[in-house]
Amino acid sequence: MKGTNTLQLPKEHVKLAIQKEGRLTESTLELLHTAGLHIEAYKQRLFSSCRNFPLTVLFVRDDDIPEYVSEGVVDLGIVGKNLVVETQQVVEELLPLNYGHCTLTVAIPRESSIENIQQLAGRKIATSYPITTKKFFEEQNIDVDIITISGSVEVTPALGVASAIVDLVSTGSSLKLNDLVPLKTVLQSQSLLIAHPASVQDETKAPLIDSLLMRFRGVMNARSFKYIMMNAPTKNVPAITELCTGLRSPTVLPTADPEWVAVHIAVPEDDFWNIIEQLRILGSQGILVTPIEKLFL
Ligand code: AMP
Repeated sequence: MKGTNTLQLPKEHVKLAIQKEGRLTESTLELLHTAGLHIEAYKQRLFSSCRNFPLTVLFVRDDDIPEYVSEGVVDLGIVGKNLVVETQQVVEELLPLNYGHCTLTVAIPRESSIENIQQLAGRKIATSYPITTKKFFEEQNIDVDIITISGSVEVTPALGVASAIVDLVSTGSSLKLNDLVPLKTVLQSQSLLIAHPASVQDETKAPLIDSLLMRFRGVMNARSFKYIMMNAPTKNVPAITELCTGLRSPTVLPTADPEWVAVHIAVPEDDFWNIIEQLRILGSQGILVTPIEKLFL
C-alpha cells in the first residue's frame, strides 16, 4: 500500500496507538487478533496497517498514548486507566477492556508503626504518579511531601528516602519482595479504549470506531461467558432458569425421556463455579462446557 512508511494515510483510516513493548502489549495484540483485525508483524516498526479494516496501529510508549489521543495524533488508544488519570489529558473513555488490572496503592514497610493514611501527614511519599497521589491526599486533607521517582519506587522506604510509596500493584509479589504491605487503594485500573473527542464526532471515523467497538464488545462478552449444555430433570427447569440470569433464557430441548430435557445456557464466567455446583444440586448430568468465540448481546 502506498504510504506504509509515512503517516499520510487515507482520511478514512482510523489510527490506534498501543503499547509497543510492555505488560499490555500481548493482551492488546490478542484482543485485536480475536476481533478479526489482522495487523502485520510489528517488531521494529512504528506502525502497521490492518489488512482487512481501515485501521492503522501505532506502536508507542504507553506513557505517551493519552497525549497522542488528546492531541488527535491518533484517533484511538489502548492504555491503562492509571495513565489516563495521571496525565490528565482530555480523552473520551470508550470501553474498559478487562485486562491489565492493577491498583494504585499506598504501601508502607511491614515493620512500620503507621496504621492509617492520616498518620502519613508530614511524611515523604515516593511515587511515579505524583499528580494522582497529590489529588488523593488533598482530597483526604492530608498534607504529605511527594517525591517523584521514575522507577523502582518500591525500594525507596528501605533506602530511607520515603516512609510510604504509592505504586501500581497487581499480584502484590513486588510489595512482598520489598517487605511492604498495602495500606489504602488510591485507584483501580485496567486497560481502556480511549478516543480523541473530535474523532468520535467525525462523520467518516465515527462509523469505523463504532464498528471496532462492536467487535471489541463481542470479544469481551464472549470472554465473560461460558456456554453450557446439559441434561436436566424436566421438573427442575424453572429453578435452572432462575439460576441462569446471564442471558435472556436457557434453550430447553425435549429428549426421548419426558422426565429429562437438554438445556443450553450461557453463564457468566465470574459466577461459573457457583452455578455449576447449583446445577449439580438440581440434578443436572453430562454438563458440557465450551468457550464462546464471540458474543453479541
Ligand atoms: P509497563 O509495561 O510495566 O509499563 O505497564 C504498563 C501498564 O500495565 C501500566 O500502566 C498498568 O496500566 C498495567 N499494569 C498492570 N499491572 C501492573 C503492575 N503490577 N505494575 C505496573 N503496571 C501494571
